[in-house]
Amino acid sequence: MAEAFGNYIGGTWRQTADLSENRNPARLDDVIGRYARGSAEDVDAAVEAGRDAQPAWAAATPEDRANVLDRAARLIFERVPELGELLAREEGKLRREAEGEVTRAANVMRFFAGEALRLGGEKIASVRAGCEVDVVREPLGVVGLITPWNFPIAIPAWKMAPALAAGNAVVIKPAEITPASTVALVKILEEAGLPAGVVNLVMGSGSVVGNRIVDHPDVRAVSFTGSERVGRQIALAGAEGMKKVQLEMGGKNPMVVMADADLDLAVKVCLDGAFFSTGQRCTASSRLIVEDRIHDAFVEKLDLARAAIRVGDPLEADSQMGPVVSEGQLESNLTYVAQAASEGCEVRGGERLNQAGYFQAPALFLNATNDMKTSQEEIFGPCASVIRVADFDEALATANDTRFGLSSGICTTSLRHATEFRRKSRAGMVMVNLPTAGVDYHVPFGGNKGSSLGAREQGPMAMEFYTSVKTAYSFAGSV
Ligand code: NAD
Repeated sequence: MAEAFGNYIGGTWRQTADLSENRNPARLDDVIGRYARGSAEDVDAAVEAGRDAQPAWAAATPEDRANVLDRAARLIFERVPELGELLAREEGKLRREAEGEVTRAANVMRFFAGEALRLGGEKIASVRAGCEVDVVREPLGVVGLITPWNFPIAIPAWKMAPALAAGNAVVIKPAEITPASTVALVKILEEAGLPAGVVNLVMGSGSVVGNRIVDHPDVRAVSFTGSERVGRQIALAGAEGMKKVQLEMGGKNPMVVMADADLDLAVKVCLDGAFFSTGQRCTASSRLIVEDRIHDAFVEKLDLARAAIRVGDPLEADSQMGPVVSEGQLESNLTYVAQAASEGCEVRGGERLNQAGYFQAPALFLNATNDMKTSQEEIFGPCASVIRVADFDEALATANDTRFGLSSGICTTSLRHATEFRRKSRAGMVMVNLPTAGVDYHVPFGGNKGSSLGAREQGPMAMEFYTSVKTAYSFAGSV
């Protein structure tokens, strides 16, 4: 029987009989392991462990915290092939994409090891004689981290690393269908010397474990990445509990292709943006907005490239796209494919493939308009709508006509188009001649409108969410 993994609370892996199987979406007979289905009581125990451990962690020197994160980074770098294979098996990313994600997790740990040392404040001259004013940043206490399935090691890393660098304790809940990579990451932090109770891992459902993390009165802040629907619930519950909330949610990211674009580059950018990682990226390009004058030539080339994508087992060297993550996600994708056809699109690809996993052919919805359901809702699969527009002004207006605002892009050789698009796009991240997905790890990540709420993640700005500001006055004079 596959190995069983319990929750990690107060420095102990707690075995339990209440487990669920984690299966490889490319080979359904491959069971990766059995993982705890935690309870509200497990969350309470994890929060208590965090509360007990946090003061000493906050009082440790910045160098002590940096050393743990730096050791964790080195352990991850050393194990990229092993962790990449585990990630590919549980989530379905190609091995090279999975190794890229693991490497990103290591880079994030290393970056925040540095940030632990750089965490500073400000000294400001007082308006009163003899007074001193210091503005300092302090940790919050116990923070709750809730993560999705599509980046099961990078997202836990980019939430845990700044939280720990700032001196917080953590209770983390990974997505139910991809716990293995997060378990591996927590084991690495343990091996790197993180004191017991500073990180606590509770696996299980959103409705039980996630809910309790959000509701627990001693969890001072919740950082969530996932769907807009759950994000909204967490924002409401956070307001009720008067706690800090950070939400990173979905996208319906536009990629504009202008007639002056380098056609081959535009095809490459759209193919990567729409179909890499099986389109299961919040920053995926799911609306390709193409200027009329280049539309037909572009679509012909793009569709040829789409049809040539080899869909297969992520661990096979010649696969170019892996499976959809789960049966539920595949069914949802197929419903959207049927919806696109019924809305009047010419659908290319998108069918379920006859293999022993959740495989789907990459899909283009041609002749789409921006008001269609398939152009407005996040599908989160290998499906992109192609929308024809007359000129730059219509392209920009169409790109911005969405309730999301995560990432956007334009392929153009015109400085005027590039500059105006960067200036007027209402997304949090804007790309020129680059895919909407695929970002650096040392700069802010996040969006606007329905895509994000609260402080930015990643880069130095990430410390904003995990700290609170104290303004300290003292008077050293005499009356
Ligand atoms: P999801 O919202 O279904 O689940 C996310 C996490 O929330 C999971 O751990 C889940 O168990 C938990 N959860 C569910 N209900 C909960 C509740 N009531 N209370 C507390 N927690 C609860 O999302 P998903 O399907 O895992 O991930 C896909 C979504 O994530 C997509 O919308 C995608 O765009 C988004 N995403 C966004 C970013 C970003 O940075 N903006 C990055 C990756 C993924």
